Amino acid sequence: MRLSAFALSTTKETPADAEIVSHQLMLRAGMIRKLGAGLYTWSPLGMRVLKRVEAIVRQEMDAAGALEVLMPAVQPAELWRESGRWDQMGDLMLRMTDRADREYCFGPTHEEVITDFVKRDVSSYKQLPLNFYQIQTKFRDEIRPRFGLMRAREFIMKDAYSFHMDAADLDREYHVMRAAYARILDRIGLDYRIVAADSGAIGGAKSEEFHVLAGSGEDELAVSEDGRYAANTEAAITQRPAGDRAAPAGELRKVDTPGVATIAQLCAALDLPPEQTAKAIVVMGDAGDPVLLVLRGDHSLNEIKAENLEGVAKPLTFADEATIRTHFGAGPGSLGPVNLNLEVIADHALANATDMAVGANYDGAHFLNFNWGRDSVEPRFADLRNVVAGDPSPDGSPLALLRGIEVGHVFQLGDKYSTALDLTVLDENGRAVVPQMGCYGFGVSRIVAAAIEQCFDDSGICWPAAIAPFDLMIIPIKADKSAAVREACETLYAQCRAAGIDAAYDDRGLRPGPMFADAELIGVPHRIVVSDRGLEAGMLEYKGRRDAESKQIEHSLEAIRQALGLPATP
Ligand code: ATP
Ligand code: MG
Repeated sequence: MRLSAFALSTTKETPADAEIVSHQLMLRAGMIRKLGAGLYTWSPLGMRVLKRVEAIVRQEMDAAGALEVLMPAVQPAELWRESGRWDQMGDLMLRMTDRADREYCFGPTHEEVITDFVKRDVSSYKQLPLNFYQIQTKFRDEIRPRFGLMRAREFIMKDAYSFHMDAADLDREYHVMRAAYARILDRIGLDYRIVAADSGAIGGAKSEEFHVLAGSGEDELAVSEDGRYAANTEAAITQRPAGDRAAPAGELRKVDTPGVATIAQLCAALDLPPEQTAKAIVVMGDAGDPVLLVLRGDHSLNEIKAENLEGVAKPLTFADEATIRTHFGAGPGSLGPVNLNLEVIADHALANATDMAVGANYDGAHFLNFNWGRDSVEPRFADLRNVVAGDPSPDGSPLALLRGIEVGHVFQLGDKYSTALDLTVLDENGRAVVPQMGCYGFGVSRIVAAAIEQCFDDSGICWPAAIAPFDLMIIPIKADKSAAVREACETLYAQCRAAGIDAAYDDRGLRPGPMFADAELIGVPHRIVVSDRGLEAGMLEYKGRRDAESKQIEHSLEAIRQALGLPATP
């Protein structure tokens, strides 16, 4: 590509409304332009990266035996009513009506549509298993679209859906897809982790996420030191500590704590470490009465775990102050399990705790030396909290917390959608069977941003070679004054293209500084500089994007191939 004809549009200034590096650099490099909240146009430069990602994804999905389809972005409401998700999706779904007042949504995902597609054509076990995929635009009306393409409203996803006669075959395909995702990320060349995940609104049993590691990642991951356990902290489990509870040491004693509303204030007022306190959170139960959740003062509630507890209303609903006063006789800030006629669920971490400080159910008062069993009923113990660094993983090795960007998600859906949409196929005995389904999502546009979060420096983007917009930048020095430089560049550019090297030639007639700056900003992995002085010596100047210094290489295609790490021409 000749840059004079490429509509490259770069800027030195960091855009004020871009918080994270990938968003800043994609705007500065001119890869994307904002149209509206969470809506972006991909420029020709951005498209080059996007297409390379798509090509890798497509190759690996094809190699894994998945079949490409393309489904409509606009989907009839009827299908979503059949699955029960028309109401469940809430405001995340963009809805519209056509001229005949029929309702539609702009697809946030395609389980319903693919199930309907399969229903029309598949009737026998002989046709299964099948796995269909597409690379397509989704729309999700995210509450907080931000970070550019990282959390956009309109974005590109690769989504695949598989259909099986039984759970064992679904499990087999799940592992085929999991391996394909690992190959995609290996080929792109990013540092990632596969973690156990919560299945969220999509539903189903087993699911894992693929996260690109980056400090700016919105997700927190718990990974064991020995690497055998990894989970999104949304889903990371904690266990009941081993051993027995010690006998109570002190007598239950009520103390005045006027104005204390938080654990930090309680610790300051009573000179206690937070581990010696318990916090009370009141949520609605599924039978109408509130339920008291009790956690160690320094721990935080995991809302996903809480709403999955038996007896707790789903979606999780925190009790309002009036309800709390009716049942506790005090307001939030002084609540606890003493003299309480409600169900109490306490976190595992409190199972062996003794002599704790808890709210007294009197405004401005707490109890010291609270002990389960003696001062209240024994609660039900459960896994209620978010893991913290150092917690033991299920196999005992301590957990470290890392930040990640979710770029892929694989699910075993089971029969949720096939049952809801009445999909059956006949087995070899002529019996109708409801197929098992899997679904496999990959954030094609998000991974472009995720790659930048992992690969940048002060000068700009440092693309992994596999998804760089160009392989090589050819930069002339004083081309306006030297026919020899112009001719050498033209020849090298033609030779590279003939050899399959995707070269860009900076023929814009700029001074060297701006040309170097642009090549670095847009992240081209290799550059060569062509000058009269070099040509006279038969040399080119070469620099890899991450190299500290440039070096001289011979003025030949072979020397360029060698610098790029390509095999010699056969
Ligand atoms: P998140 O938790 O980040 O909101 P999700 O779990 O809702 O994502 P999935 O339904 O699993 O997303 O979608 C599959 C993939 O699509 C995700 O792994 C992610 O890479 C990508 N994706 C989801 N939402 C967005 C978005 N708003 N912008 C860009 N990519 C997205
Ligand atoms: Mg997900």
